[in-house]
Amino acid sequence: MSTIGRVAVYTGSSPGTSPIYREAATQVGRFLGASGVGVVYGGGHVGLMGTVADAALTAGGEAIGVIPQALVNAELAHPGLTALEVVPDMHVRKMRMSDLADAFVALPGGPGTLEEFFEAWTWLQLGFHRKPVALYDVDGFWQPLLRMLDGMVEAGFLQADFRASLLVVDTPETLLTAFREWEPPTPKFAR
Ligand code: AMP
Repeated sequence: MSTIGRVAVYTGSSPGTSPIYREAATQVGRFLGASGVGVVYGGGHVGLMGTVADAALTAGGEAIGVIPQALVNAELAHPGLTALEVVPDMHVRKMRMSDLADAFVALPGGPGTLEEFFEAWTWLQLGFHRKPVALYDVDGFWQPLLRMLDGMVEAGFLQADFRASLLVVDTPETLLTAFREWEPPTPKFAR
């Protein structure tokens, strides 16, 4: 059982073509906010990332943004956050988000979301942190990626227990429950 005070949320800087994505982002932000769990995210007010932050704040929760200086304008830094940290570059952003969070979740998004998700999850595999990582599946969005990961296990590039360490959920309630009940795997090179 672990205590989850803050969750890093990775998701698109675009809203996606279906309203279902924005609805899911709203539900996650609202639930985390209402549960007293802070949201750590990229600090923009655009796309689904802005939706999650807005929903958390509206529910009375915390939203902490971490944004590189070069993206303050491009991602339109959110003006109403609990805290906005402007950092020098993307590497510091990801490290800072990782330090601030007790758990990580990726909602639907593009390549930036994938990059952040894979960094968090591969750092777990290497033992650089011992925090849960989840995919939040909306309308089957992550199923092609999950098939790819299963193929990696079959092909011998991914250990089955690391594949199993990845949480896959599709409701805000199961997200928090799964985070709290999760047990970390033994790091890859510590066996
Ligand atoms: P996207 O999913 O492509 O819309 O990007 C979502 C978030 O990921 C945005 O906050 C981007 O700034 C961030 N992002 C984009 N590319 C990268 C990258 N190479 N490394 C880390 N974050 C990124």
